[in-house]
Amino acid sequence: MTSSARPFLNRSLAAFGTTIFAEMSALALTTGAINLGQGFPDTDGPEEIREAAVRALRDGRGNQYPPGPGVPELRAAVAAHQERRYGLSFDPDTEVLVTAGATEAIAASLLALLEPGDEVVALEPYYDSYAACIAMAGARRVPVTLRPDQGRFRLDLDELRAAVTDRTRLLLINTPHNPTGTVLTREELAAVAEFAVARDLLVVTDEVYEHLVFDGAEHLPLAGFPGMRERTVTIGSAGKTYSFTGWKVGWVTAAPGLVAAVRSAKQYLTYVASGPFQHAVAEALALPDSYLAGFRADMQAKRDLLAAGLRDAGFGVFIPSGTYFVTTDIRPLGESDGFAFCRALPERAGVVAIPNAVFYDHRDEGAPFVRFAFCKRTEVLQEAVQRLKNLNG
Ligand SMILES: *Cc1c(COP(=O)(O)O)cnc(C)c1O
Repeated sequence: MTSSARPFLNRSLAAFGTTIFAEMSALALTTGAINLGQGFPDTDGPEEIREAAVRALRDGRGNQYPPGPGVPELRAAVAAHQERRYGLSFDPDTEVLVTAGATEAIAASLLALLEPGDEVVALEPYYDSYAACIAMAGARRVPVTLRPDQGRFRLDLDELRAAVTDRTRLLLINTPHNPTGTVLTREELAAVAEFAVARDLLVVTDEVYEHLVFDGAEHLPLAGFPGMRERTVTIGSAGKTYSFTGWKVGWVTAAPGLVAAVRSAKQYLTYVASGPFQHAVAEALALPDSYLAGFRADMQAKRDLLAAGLRDAGFGVFIPSGTYFVTTDIRPLGESDGFAFCRALPERAGVVAIPNAVFYDHRDEGAPFVRFAFCKRTEVLQEAVQRLKNLNG
């Protein structure tokens, strides 16, 4: 302690402590448990894209500060992707911004678009950086809780409408949704869009799992709905789509005024990042659709393997339509406290999972849910499933 009694950490961040991922990953190490907590793949993405990064580095492309908005090749590739995939056209020079992963895109968007006292309506449970970034912007989060309904976590549109007040500045949407695996349907998105237009709200939408949808589910970008093009900041990332989460290459697509605002915040966060990797990701975005189809099929098979194992072990399982997480209900196992369950699971079964309650303001709503990641090698998932069989024995 210094002589003053004032704590080092400021008030807006003090509530957040250290993330559960650090605690659970440490537990995995000390117990030798299989870590299905944090969501990163245990195999790298396509070899030719790794080689593209090596080539960029050797050729001296991106080893010095790249342009602030991102290298032109990547901005062009992002724009081409949005056009080819969704029929949405963005000007690579004024409507695309490259960021240090989606994480910086989220931070820069919220810091740029919010005034202290503004309210942000966000889907709960939410990705952990949302709450911290809203707090750093001095704004207030207003959660709308997704609740289980016929095997899927569903958005209650009436609750969303009721959460919006005169102080609401923006809606923070995430689809496909981490941690629940819900993919918002066309009807749900249309209703969100119609409401955002009617109330003249900005929308920030985190679509980093856009390519990870299963069983023929369709990801629809919110920016494509009527009246949304000019009010929506869409966030994408190469980390999840191409299995290079360490490269931290993300992007924002939006109308010029919104991109300029986000860039104003971004330039004072990292300014730029990931130079050579930006070039490699430009090549990744140009891979044929067959790559994505193969990746999706592979992930779906992993989902099915883990989901079946969890069901056999006695969990209630919500089959995810997207992302690489499966949320379970521990009540069929006679448990109700996800925190206690996850702290004990490494000893009991040699597996690490994450209590969904950490993603809730209403902790009691999230208490019985536990999240497992399935973006791991098949043999790792098989071993985890084998170990989980001991839970009841
Ligand atoms: C992983 C993840 C991010 C962060 O993406 P990066 O590109 O690694 O910064 C953002 N949002 C969600 C929902 C995620 O799961």
